[in-house]
Amino acid sequence: MLMDQSREELKEQYAGLKARYEELKAQGLKLDISRGKPSKEQLELSMDLFTVLTPSSDMISEDGVDTRNYGCLTGILEAKKLLADLLEAKPENIIVFGGSSLNIMYDMVSKAYTHGIMGETPWGKLPSVKFLCPVPGYDRHFSVTQAFGIEMINVPMNDAGPDMDLVERLVSEDESVKGIWCVPKYSNPGGTVYSDETVRRFAALKPAAKDFRIFWDNAYNVHHLDVDRPREILNILEETEKAGNPNLVYEFGSFSKITFPGSSVSAIACSEANVKDITSVMQNQIIGHNKITQLQHARYFKDKAGILDHMRKHAAILKPKFDIVEETLEKNLGGLGIGSWSHPEGGYFVSFNTLPGCAKEVVSLMKEAGVTMTGAGATYPYKKDPEDSNIRIAPSYATVEELKKAIEIFTLVVRLVSTEKLLEN
Ligand code: PLP
Repeated sequence: MLMDQSREELKEQYAGLKARYEELKAQGLKLDISRGKPSKEQLELSMDLFTVLTPSSDMISEDGVDTRNYGCLTGILEAKKLLADLLEAKPENIIVFGGSSLNIMYDMVSKAYTHGIMGETPWGKLPSVKFLCPVPGYDRHFSVTQAFGIEMINVPMNDAGPDMDLVERLVSEDESVKGIWCVPKYSNPGGTVYSDETVRRFAALKPAAKDFRIFWDNAYNVHHLDVDRPREILNILEETEKAGNPNLVYEFGSFSKITFPGSSVSAIACSEANVKDITSVMQNQIIGHNKITQLQHARYFKDKAGILDHMRKHAAILKPKFDIVEETLEKNLGGLGIGSWSHPEGGYFVSFNTLPGCAKEVVSLMKEAGVTMTGAGATYPYKKDPEDSNIRIAPSYATVEELKKAIEIFTLVVRLVSTEKLLEN
């Protein structure tokens, strides 16, 4: 443990680390491990999508829609079936949207704000609206609620999901609590998989607000690092139905990290009553989303097995990168007591916790050394990490060589900043 060492030992180490850091800085590196984007190699996996539709293709959907023309607000039948497979829902519970599920989440908050949910007072007319935010979490979720001036309340995450005692209390006591952000599988950034108990407790919530919704962002449902050993969670739509709360949840997902981010298909899965409520507003917004892309995805993947086959190819590219992160962190930081990190079985991120008060400095020194990371604090609402300790590592986009270099530098910087902190104290 670093903290057991004498001041003299720490000073000596600090000088050595600082010298190595300055050498690295002088190399003028330009590396990026900030955003969870698929690499070019991963994008290449989906190029055959362009072969499924040709000038001679039949463009009529299973339910008789000419996909080249206007119409079909909720999506063509085969796309609903495919997204139902992805999200483990029924086709009648699906509304297919465009290339971004985040956009649907924004729309749902926006709709609640302007029109209200199922006849309830629009959130924009209420004196106070609050959202629960499991932390650390996905920065863009927090940006959506912040954009509407919604007050965000941190809820700590543990190994089985959010602190459910706190969630149950806040949701049942306070009518101004209108929603919660959840990434139930391979969460961003912690890689957490919600336990069965957590899902059941979510399904059985007794909110004070009639228009409370769980924003169940199942972005990583099929994004296993080992497709032969997938982690599964209980089906929230089935559980809410069983618990007599069928309208409690909005589930989201997309093909962003299956085919082309921003240029694929996305969907919301929810009860038929929610579908009706959402489409009543949506019909004034759009005539129908891009059905050609829907048809292309449906014909290419066909079903869940088709999706999983494809995810196996992604995993073959991603797993070695996650292994590099795990091995390098363990080799250089294991047993030092200056950092802990997640060991994800899927998703796109590794979550790292420094000693309190070190994360900002680590990310800033990384930047000076030419390595861009997600900003410290980004994983918390208002970008305020009360401990200044969480850093999100995104291994997917960099090449293996770049990633090796970036993580080596990261471990050096963590040691440098931690030694400095221990010396200060
Ligand atoms: N949800 C989570 C948890 C994510 O991590 C991301 C992207 O990183 C998204 C949603 C974005 O999804 P989409 O591309 O469908 O908008």
